[in-house]
Amino acid sequence: MEQLSTRLLALSPSATLAMSQKSQELKAQGLDIINLSVGEPDFNTPDHIKEAAKQAIDNNFSFYTAVPGYLSLRQAISRKLKEENGVDFEPTQIVVGNGAKQEICNVILAIVEKGDEVIIPTPAWVSYFEMVKLAEGVNVPFLCNQEQDFKITAEQLESLITPKTKCLMLCSPSNPTGAIYSKEELAAIAQVLAKYPRIVVISDEIYEHISYTGEKLTSLASFPEMKDRVVIINGVSKAYAMTGWRIGFCAAPTYIAKAVTKLQGQYTSGCSSIAQKAAEAAYNGSQQCVEDMRVAFERRRDLIFDLVQQIPGFRLDKKPQGAFYVFPDVTALFGKQTPAGKTIANADDLAMYLLEEGHVAGVSGAAFGADECIRFSYATADDRITEAMARVKAAVEALK
Ligand code: PMP
Ligand code: GLU
Repeated sequence: MEQLSTRLLALSPSATLAMSQKSQELKAQGLDIINLSVGEPDFNTPDHIKEAAKQAIDNNFSFYTAVPGYLSLRQAISRKLKEENGVDFEPTQIVVGNGAKQEICNVILAIVEKGDEVIIPTPAWVSYFEMVKLAEGVNVPFLCNQEQDFKITAEQLESLITPKTKCLMLCSPSNPTGAIYSKEELAAIAQVLAKYPRIVVISDEIYEHISYTGEKLTSLASFPEMKDRVVIINGVSKAYAMTGWRIGFCAAPTYIAKAVTKLQGQYTSGCSSIAQKAAEAAYNGSQQCVEDMRVAFERRRDLIFDLVQQIPGFRLDKKPQGAFYVFPDVTALFGKQTPAGKTIANADDLAMYLLEEGHVAGVSGAAFGADECIRFSYATADDRITEAMARVKAAVEALK
């Protein structure tokens, strides 16, 4: 007899990781699968960061660390936040954990009470909804379509606020759409939120450096009226090609940082000492590697955008401004038949068809709260992107 909690049974598996797993399995069977499902840079971690980790081992950084992370790392993050984002967070307000993922979940668990509403402008990253469910909160998704550049307006936000609203999840640059909120758009949002002091904002800035607007990212935390209301989430996974090292952080009002530390102290403790020293080198070292990777992502963004335009039934009106995903609308293909006679009823069916017949893994938009779209990550080599889109085009053209 299986004995699982209702909390666990209500949870969906991560669609991004599931699709990636499926493509690994097909690869293991000898198929040439191009995996554009999971979002992770294809670059190796820069050498000076790897060197710092090797030194950390030799210098015996092998003991438990402080639960919120080494003070030296939190000092480096505090400086980064000041210099790059113009926000003041003391090291005591920063908690380092096993990826941005853990810190987002920690913050949600720390503040969301059973029945509290969390406003999530969608399309949004798959894990937000599940984390809210874990906390027994209520997801309040709001679909922002392509016509509004996938961004919520201040008026739309206000219309969703109720006495039960506890939190707003903002992600800019966005996974999966690449949308970036401008300073003006954030100012309007801050103005609305100023009327509702109970609402905490989680500002996920993990794609901060993967931006093609030519402008520095504006953080909602930098607006004076939002002081002590915004939790910044960031980490080294995307900017420094360090997804496997598992280092992310939250920078939060002191009471939230303390609560997150208490939670983390009971179920994971501080994260890997070696990875923390590597992250410290990432923040303190030269930032040229970040820019070099950004330039490569921008070239690939241009490449995949042009190729997507040539696929019948895919609609992507504007180039994404950041992150490394395209999220075209594919509704024009719904109702069509595969050569095997199966109907493509939705984005899940299309993603599965493209994987099985085209050998290209993407992720259905459904898990992002937008069933009309499909996501492809372009954090891969240019020639693989070209090959992948040729395969997708051929598979789509075979639909009747
Ligand atoms: N936020 C967003 C929007 C993401 O796409 C990801 C992807 N991994 C994360 C947070 C978590 O990143 P990590 O745990 O690797 O730091
Ligand atoms: N954030 C990445 C993605 O969306 C990595 C996988 C995950 O953690 O969801 O693909």
